[in-house]
Amino acid sequence: MEWLETCRKVYNYALRERKDWVNSRKCSINACSLQSESIIPADALYPNYYRQKKALTEAKKTNPGLKAVHSQVLQDVIGRVDAAFAAMKQRGHGFPRFKKFGQFKSFLFPQVDNDAIVESQIKLPKLGKVAINLHRPIPEGFRVKTARIVRKASGWYVALAIQADVSVPEPMPHGHALGIDVGLEYFLSTSEGEQVKRPRFFNQLHRKLKLLQRRLKNKEKGSSNRRKLNRKIGRVHEKIAHCRSDFHFKLAHHLCDHAGMIFVEDLDFRVMAKGMSGQHTLDAGLGQFVNQILPWVCWKRDVYYGKVDPNGTSQECPDCGAVVKKDLSVRGHHCAECGSTKPRDVASGQVIRSRGLSAAVGYAAKENVCGDGLAGALPSQVSLKQKLES
Ligand SMILES: [Zn+2]
Repeated sequence: MEWLETCRKVYNYALRERKDWVNSRKCSINACSLQSESIIPADALYPNYYRQKKALTEAKKTNPGLKAVHSQVLQDVIGRVDAAFAAMKQRGHGFPRFKKFGQFKSFLFPQVDNDAIVESQIKLPKLGKVAINLHRPIPEGFRVKTARIVRKASGWYVALAIQADVSVPEPMPHGHALGIDVGLEYFLSTSEGEQVKRPRFFNQLHRKLKLLQRRLKNKEKGSSNRRKLNRKIGRVHEKIAHCRSDFHFKLAHHLCDHAGMIFVEDLDFRVMAKGMSGQHTLDAGLGQFVNQILPWVCWKRDVYYGKVDPNGTSQECPDCGAVVKKDLSVRGHHCAECGSTKPRDVASGQVIRSRGLSAAVGYAAKENVCGDGLAGALPSQVSLKQKLES
């Protein structure tokens, strides 16, 4: 659709503007680089969100293409550039990249309300009524806030973000505690001794993907066969993503079936992904599972979710606390002090469980003293999940 292309151009333009500004401030005053130098007047202000938004309104007067797209949708694109820069500064993400043709896959209507949805149609500004397949009704008491239009290999989707003005109490530490160790040999191991393997269907689908990607080399650029093959590859990617999230949700619910508290290690999965085992960690989507799906399911199921210090969880004996040094190749835990023997990851899971428990007990004690003013002690991610995407 043309809207995506217009959005992409606006995104790249806004990014170019910021990049030029940043580059123009790099060189020292009395020496210019030999290759190139972007020259921007010294008093030019940084093109921030508000300035770029204003410039957009101006640009519309001369560029009819911009008028075809709803103004709030384009403003949201500027917001995305802004967010990319903020993520770079605050979270150490990389410098935002330009989007190539076809890489811009969604746009957002920031203001949609409940009236927009009538039976199986959604009324969107400028686009008019669009037939949709509403997978589940908007729950009672929720208001529709935004609608994101997403292009996927299998078609177009509308993702509605809905919000309710009720405060849901955070789950308190209670009941049975479960420590979870994630890894590569097993997807995860619990302190109960349960070990879950990486599902096999990923391998099959990845083989299929590799095969299709190899075939892509023989196809001429721009040919219709290439385009068809690319669409096919897209659908396999989508299938993998679906299977993965289905597996993640089932697993998270399974863990919640047997626990009142779940503890995981506070790991930085981006660092793990950069290591040699990167391909596998990313495949299995460990970070997504631990940081998004599991806390979300826990919150829904009233299970307390906590993170613990990950340092040395695999080097400690869960039964006596002695340090048992072992490198990655050692798969079993054998304690010389107390004679405890168990699989390595299960031992880590038990260490995580006891660390979590001591933190949670402290938390519960404080909570009793000071009432409810302790939101900061909880993982903030959980509270943000009041936003439901359907
Ligand atoms: Zn021991």
